[in-house]
Amino acid sequence: MTTDIEALDTVREATADVVDLSSRWRKCADRLRSARADTPDQDAALHVDRDSAVVLTAPHGTRHYRAGAMKQADLHTGSLTLLAGEVAQVSTVVSARARAAWSTWVERDDAFVRHLRDLDEPARMILDIHGMGDHHGPDFCLGTGPRPGALEDAAVDILRDELDGFDVAVDSPFDARPHYTVTSLAQRHLGLAALQIEVAARWRSPDDEAAAPGVSALTRALAAVDRHLRDAA
Ligand SMILES: [Zn+2]
Repeated sequence: MTTDIEALDTVREATADVVDLSSRWRKCADRLRSARADTPDQDAALHVDRDSAVVLTAPHGTRHYRAGAMKQADLHTGSLTLLAGEVAQVSTVVSARARAAWSTWVERDDAFVRHLRDLDEPARMILDIHGMGDHHGPDFCLGTGPRPGALEDAAVDILRDELDGFDVAVDSPFDARPHYTVTSLAQRHLGLAALQIEVAARWRSPDDEAAAPGVSALTRALAAVDRHLRDAA
């Protein structure tokens, strides 16, 4: 039986976690801003290697080229990815600036893609973090890419399980099949499994503590995928 005092303690702990997560998220945003300021003339990327099976990527945290066209940032996905990597203890590759034009992965050669090409054991799966508009509906959308296999299937099951209570869509509205996605690069060119994870805007605000439950649940889910991949290795 849970006493009122215990229940109150649980609420206090949960509140403390949320405040802690939001402040850590803002620190990650600061880190990304200084990486950008330190390398004004080049397309920089932050790689944090934690020797994990899962590698989180964030290609669209700033204005970027995608298949030849300049696009606006998927807001706060860079800092969200740094935070999720830190909490889940998995590696991250986050683009700090991506202004050079490119159309295909073969011709792209900047810090972000070089880090991905250099990934090595124990890296087995890229989880590529993006932002979608709230008007699409779901909280999260998992895109399985052009060549999903057993690891993608397992990761989808784990993510849906762990994100219980959230609206998690698969392959609709975004399936990550176009040639220019990181998921496509990983599955077709790098010999790695991959999934794209689109996060709704309502769960992407380091300044709004109401967004913390989304990132907290996502972080636990990412850690669970990493554990599964290690056990399956
Ligand atoms: Zn994106």
